Amino acid sequence: MLGCIADDFTGATDLANNLTRAGFRVMLTIGAPTADVLIEGDIDAVVVALKSRTIPSADAVMQSLTALAALQQIGVDRLYFKYCSTFDSTPRGNIGPVTEALMHALGCDFTVAVPAFLETGRTVFNGHLFVGETLLSESGMRDHPLTPMTDANLVRVLQAQCTRRVGLISHREVLAGPAAIRARIAALRAQDIGLAIVDVLRDADLTAIADATIDLPLLTGGSGLALGLRPPNARIGAPTLPPARGYRAVIAGSCSRATQQQVQRFIDAGHAAFKLDPARLDAAGALAWARAHLPGGPVLIYSTGDAASVRATQAALGVGAGEHIESVLADIAVGLVASGVGQLVVAGGETSGACVRALGADALRIGAQIDPGVPWCFAHTPTGGLHIALKSGNFGQADFFTRAFDAIAPKIV
Ligand code: ADP
Repeated sequence: MLGCIADDFTGATDLANNLTRAGFRVMLTIGAPTADVLIEGDIDAVVVALKSRTIPSADAVMQSLTALAALQQIGVDRLYFKYCSTFDSTPRGNIGPVTEALMHALGCDFTVAVPAFLETGRTVFNGHLFVGETLLSESGMRDHPLTPMTDANLVRVLQAQCTRRVGLISHREVLAGPAAIRARIAALRAQDIGLAIVDVLRDADLTAIADATIDLPLLTGGSGLALGLRPPNARIGAPTLPPARGYRAVIAGSCSRATQQQVQRFIDAGHAAFKLDPARLDAAGALAWARAHLPGGPVLIYSTGDAASVRATQAALGVGAGEHIESVLADIAVGLVASGVGQLVVAGGETSGACVRALGADALRIGAQIDPGVPWCFAHTPTGGLHIALKSGNFGQADFFTRAFDAIAPKIV
């Protein structure tokens, strides 16, 4: 069985979605799994959703090792550490420290880092990450509130976070196929290099990399690599979720460019939207507003702002502002569900983590994909459950906030 550890919640659903598309039968757990997840039977992969991307690296390491131990207890023999396809991290980590701790725990002297995700435009060439046609460091990611990415050279970025030496498997080797990739890995190992960024430009590259690394006990990367993996017993199509019910709502705490556009499109389409002022976070006011508008169709509550307003908020409220906003949005998520929302879209990785935790969800079933990287899920919660879609900030088309609801059975209370 394949075990996966994802460093945020949208990343976990994104990976579970791609594993499902690759033919794996997947269970997603919030935090370390227990043997209960196997009750549904026939599971080929367990994805553990952590919220460890931006916490202190020692805590991220500890949570990841706890998850690994729990996965090993339920029979996992191979691990996939999933992070963002834009390599979201700070100079202290957490991609490097967590990868090295997992390598140590698994007794593994070499692993690959494969962040590329072609369907969302993330490619890697000569170790440099591109978002569409733009270098990572010139993309919207340079303004990210928590993990601004100002260097596109991932060998350099990862090296700054690691004690082992970091190398590159270039596209020349990837293009030449699995045998050439294996030869390059052997050469890197001989130079005492423990990790390698791998170039990816085409779907076929992912299959070649997956085939070449079949013997490695640890893989790391974005969710794209999952599309190259081959499950033990491939199955076609996502499992069906229970029928959707309840009111429809969107919570957006992402300030990424795609989310800014999605918020604007939702407002332009005439739907009800409530802007949460970061300086005066009024959960009760937002909920009272929502209760009045929910019967009329999907509502949006958002703190989303552009780069200038994020800078202004951080200058006024300090670096803890993001976490505070997350916790208020999470309280709002709980209030919305208590008010009858049964179909909830959350935009933002950290924001999704805060909301899913506050809702008390312990496991998610993965349903059909809405846009690349974002499936509908059914979250098991103490009060029964609800449909939830966790959207990484930069994912989804401009009309995502309305199209998501059209994609599930259109039934409102
Ligand atoms: P993404 O998936 O786009 O990275 P996240 O939810 O992971 O989105 O991160 C966005 C962060 O920005 C969260 O910590 C969120 O609370 C914070 N945030 C949201 N709105 C604002 C704002 N107006 N100003 C500053 N920070 C904000």
